[in-house]
Amino acid sequence: MAESMQVDAGSEDFKGTGQCLCGTVQYMISGEPIYSVVCHCCNCRRSTGTSFVTNTIFLKKDLKWQQSKDDALRCFEDMHTDSGTKLMRHFCQFCGSPIFATTPLWDEIVSVFAGTLNDQQAWKPMKEQYCDSKAPWLPDLGVTDRTCRGPGSGAPL
Ligand SMILES: [Zn+2]
Ligand SMILES: [Zn+2]
Repeated sequence: MAESMQVDAGSEDFKGTGQCLCGTVQYMISGEPIYSVVCHCCNCRRSTGTSFVTNTIFLKKDLKWQQSKDDALRCFEDMHTDSGTKLMRHFCQFCGSPIFATTPLWDEIVSVFAGTLNDQQAWKPMKEQYCDSKAPWLPDLGVTDRTCRGPGSGAPL
């Protein structure tokens, strides 16, 4: 589980910050992303109300988050996954923003919903998954690493 601690924007290894819509939950990432991915699965669509989601995968130890109100960050246990292992979808209970997801299948990583990053300029997808349920109106995103469903066992989303 990610640990809660003070966000220190002056840290030397500062890489990125983000927050939920209402700002109650804020986070800082201090390490390099493992990869970034567009997910077209119907669970991601439903949980975000969008046609696809954008995620960046980091080591859990590189994510520090804080909340200005107690218990702002809540977790929905998504049981309807391909693997059958629950996916923990962490969100702000006040504004509903999905912040990150974790899974016991790949315990050392966290999948951060990239739309919550403060800086959107540098983000681009390295992978695309669950392309078999991709919305037909979406154009080719120019991603070569594409899978019909999840990327195999350990798929975070
Ligand atoms: Zn919020
Ligand atoms: Zn998904």
